[in-house]
Amino acid sequence: MEYLVYAVRQSEVQLSDAQVNFAGQLAATKEVEDKARGKQEELAIQKNALRLKRHTLKTYKGVLETAKELPVEVFKCKVCFKYFASQMHLEAHYKRRHPDSFKVECTKT
Ligand SMILES: [Zn+2]
Repeated sequence: MEYLVYAVRQSEVQLSDAQVNFAGQLAATKEVEDKARGKQEELAIQKNALRLKRHTLKTYKGVLETAKELPVEVFKCKVCFKYFASQMHLEAHYKRRHPDSFKVECTKT
């Protein structure tokens, strides 16, 4: 009889151990799930940021291509082949760098 009581108690203890164990595992699983959800949210944010960056890059690319197509006037030094944004800059360059060649006709390219 005493053995039976002991056995029942023992199984109760084991059962409660198992329940605690289960609860712990459940909590751990939930934690993992929460972490996974957090990671997914993080990933979604990063994906969104990447998409935005790609869009920005596309815009820049578009701007660059448009700029390439624009007929940009460039003034080239006939002596050292440096490029200048304006006739004025080119003339100043001639005066400063090539005083002897100042009379050389300036070219537009
Ligand atoms: Zn020059």
